[in-house]
Amino acid sequence: MSESGGKQASVVSIYGQALAPETFDPTPEIKALWDKVYSQMREEFGEAIFRSWLKPMSLQAAYHGTLEVSVPTRFMKDWIATHYAERIRAMCESLNTEIKRLEIVVVHGHVSSEDEAEPAAKPLKANVNELAEKLDLSSPLDPRFKFETFVVAKSNALAHAAASRVVECNVPFNPLFIYGGVGLGKTHLMHAIAWELKEKQPEKVVMYLSAEKFMYQFVKAIRAQDTMTFKEIFRSVDVLMIDDIQFIAGKDSTQEEFFHTFNALVDQNKQIIIAADRAPTELQGIDERLRSRMSWGLVADIHASTYDLRLGILKARAAQLGAIVSDAVLEFLSLKITSNIRELEGALNRIVAHADVTKSEITLESTQDVLQDLLRSSDRRITIDEIQRRVAEHYNVRITDMHSARRARQVARPRQVAMYLSKQLTARSLPEIGRKFGGRDHTTVMHAVRKVEELIAEDPSFAQDVDVLRRTLTQ
Ligand code: ADP
Ligand code: MG
Repeated sequence: MSESGGKQASVVSIYGQALAPETFDPTPEIKALWDKVYSQMREEFGEAIFRSWLKPMSLQAAYHGTLEVSVPTRFMKDWIATHYAERIRAMCESLNTEIKRLEIVVVHGHVSSEDEAEPAAKPLKANVNELAEKLDLSSPLDPRFKFETFVVAKSNALAHAAASRVVECNVPFNPLFIYGGVGLGKTHLMHAIAWELKEKQPEKVVMYLSAEKFMYQFVKAIRAQDTMTFKEIFRSVDVLMIDDIQFIAGKDSTQEEFFHTFNALVDQNKQIIIAADRAPTELQGIDERLRSRMSWGLVADIHASTYDLRLGILKARAAQLGAIVSDAVLEFLSLKITSNIRELEGALNRIVAHADVTKSEITLESTQDVLQDLLRSSDRRITIDEIQRRVAEHYNVRITDMHSARRARQVARPRQVAMYLSKQLTARSLPEIGRKFGGRDHTTVMHAVRKVEELIAEDPSFAQDVDVLRRTLTQ
């Protein structure tokens, strides 16, 4: 490549080493000029950009109309060259018309300080994985969290489809933002993406970590006065995946750093994937600029699980464990443990382990026995009467409507919600619940439970409503 070809090439020539400074020591005038340019850059590009990119520039030499400045990493050099160099050169020229060129050179010694000195920098790509590992920047991937083990249902179909697209296409949307309640499979999907990318596109540098780890490592880098390495690594990955982004709410400097990383990667068309427990707009304590940038790509939510999804997951899990568990038991668990799939899986593990140790069969009775604490914690103190009263209050219907035969939607829906909550929050059987609702049949209760689950999966505001009711009842 010729140095004098395009515009950029005439601004910055690419060569690896700085000239020995004593050869062309800058004169006091040139030093003064550089000081001026330095403060002008700060003013013109703003404090954040200045601190991230321009501050480390240092004057090395001046010769034949060229000003030579150094930066600590090759990545910074390239970045400055494409984004700021032309403007900086113009600033220099406006102060001294003899200056026609700006040379940016890399002066190493930053990245691998305590290790044996590496002579020239290896291409950064090859280094990133190594460095990230050495510095403990990424989190390990769970081998169980793959696409093959993820059960797709209506509640998670969008998030699943989006995750698959990211693996198949190059940056189909940026960022991909996945959100949903605890234990609904966000982390599972993130890991699945990472595994698949590693397998199908091994040349890509994929980094997965929690926002908590991002912050911890950033703070550590600040303490060690080596944010340069941190920045360089994060700005040179191909796919950055940050889990539980809600964690950085209220953590201003971490947010700012993440914001810059985010922008730098988007500018280079690198994929960013974020998971959170709520929508970008709902992330209180996170800067408005960042919130809005996070919703620029595809926002996919995972709704509450349905009975069918829970049952599907349990069946798959039981098969994975090689355990023989009857449908009746799996159905019972799917009906009883609804809040969190992690808990549901934990329950299955427990009954399987118990049967294994005691060399006994898994029955409905043994299941209830083994999971006593778990099942009871959800029917502490709560009675069907109480549920009916609360639900009636909440929807502003009469309590007698809970027992009445009226079928108008405005009373039938609250009644179904009350039946659903009775099933979830008490130990009463379907026939018992039916009896408390004006002597209805157990199939009516079953239908109500399914209906409400369907609505929860379809309609986030309805889901929230039911969740509020559940919480007021269980507190
Ligand atoms: P989150 O990150 O949303 O809190 P996780 O991804 O950690 O939830 O999921 C919790 C548990 O539930 C994990 O063991 C995960 O494998 C399982 N899980 C959640 N959703 C599904 C699904 N659709 N198919 C299979 N397993 C799932
Ligand atoms: Mg998670």
